[in-house]
Amino acid sequence: MAETARISRRGAARWMQGHPWIYRSDVVQPPPAVAGAVRVESEDGRFQGMALWSPRSTISLRMLTREERSIDGAFWAARIGAAAAYRERLAPDATAYRLVHGEADGLPSLVVDRYDRYLVVQLLSAGLERFRGEIVDALRERFEPAGILARHDVAVRDFEGLPRGVEPLYGTVPEQVAVREGAVRYLAAPHHGQKTGAFLDQRENRVRAGELSRGRALDCFAYHGSFALHLATRAERVVAVDSSGPALERAAANAALNGFAQITPIEANVFEFLRAEEAAGSRYDIVVVDPPAFAKRRDAVASAIRGYKEVNLRALRILEPGGYLCTFSCSYHVDHAAFREMLRSAAADAGRPVRWIEARGQALDHPELLQVAESAYLKGAILQAL
Ligand code: SAH
Repeated sequence: MAETARISRRGAARWMQGHPWIYRSDVVQPPPAVAGAVRVESEDGRFQGMALWSPRSTISLRMLTREERSIDGAFWAARIGAAAAYRERLAPDATAYRLVHGEADGLPSLVVDRYDRYLVVQLLSAGLERFRGEIVDALRERFEPAGILARHDVAVRDFEGLPRGVEPLYGTVPEQVAVREGAVRYLAAPHHGQKTGAFLDQRENRVRAGELSRGRALDCFAYHGSFALHLATRAERVVAVDSSGPALERAAANAALNGFAQITPIEANVFEFLRAEEAAGSRYDIVVVDPPAFAKRRDAVASAIRGYKEVNLRALRILEPGGYLCTFSCSYHVDHAAFREMLRSAAADAGRPVRWIEARGQALDHPELLQVAESAYLKGAILQAL
């Protein structure tokens, strides 16, 4: 029988509305247990559900189920099976994509990405970490991977009182894994690359940018060139700009892997590069702007918006008439409304009419939970400058 936690009326109401987190301030009686799965009751003793318990974190409880049941191997296998079934229906045209996206798959604080025959996993809460064995067993059973790697070198593990590190959980995972994404192939770096080895949340947006590409193309904040590769499927020249030398070395390797001689990696600060291109009178048929999160905290939103606006304004200025801008923000503190308003203001300052072609978001294998605002972090738009 699991131990019991009691939560405030406010916490219970939040849960009922579909947000799976209970913060420490809403825990009126912590369970006597170490981290793991616990029963949750309201202040007046009514059963609320089963949750993962994190004694050290400010997010104390993460809802698993409203059913009173044991959280065992069969539970994890069923949830992982449901996550896999959803991806089977999506049938991503790629060999690298997200298999488990945390809360939105009913698997709070668990991330599982597939890179061909390998899985990269993140167990991001103390409660979840207690079920490492059951989860690895379920993943091996369901996907029969050649190797499973834990990318636990992330700051959120500190808040949970968990150690950081990169460690094999099963078999071996190579330093680089060649994967396919639609018409292109690229090398993911599961051990050292950003996130779990690539930015999988942009997969569908990269394919879309490729469809719109032609003539002269520019990939700003290119990382290992993943947008640039798709742009190169239809463009004559592609410039890929990033400030990271090692990322651009992989961009060059990825270009070679696809036989794309028309991609030129340039190591530069995007802000300075765009200013110089504008001054030099360079013009492009399509520009991608995919910066890192400028607003990592809420109090950084105003300065982040200024950064986003500047880069989008400059990108709009160097577009040929009819050229496309594919632009993104992965700061969840910058919401859809703020993102759109920032683009309106950039277009106004660019002094040319700009069409809003379509709204974009994170790939469908990274589902959002409607009741969890934080889960919709990636905003995007495709604009056309007239
Ligand atoms: N578009 C990529 C992901 C980009 S991540 C993809 O789909 O895979 C953001 C990138 O921006 C990182 O590679 C980082 O090195 C780079 N970066 C951050 N600040 C920069 C700046 N001011 N100028 C150029 N690159 C920058």
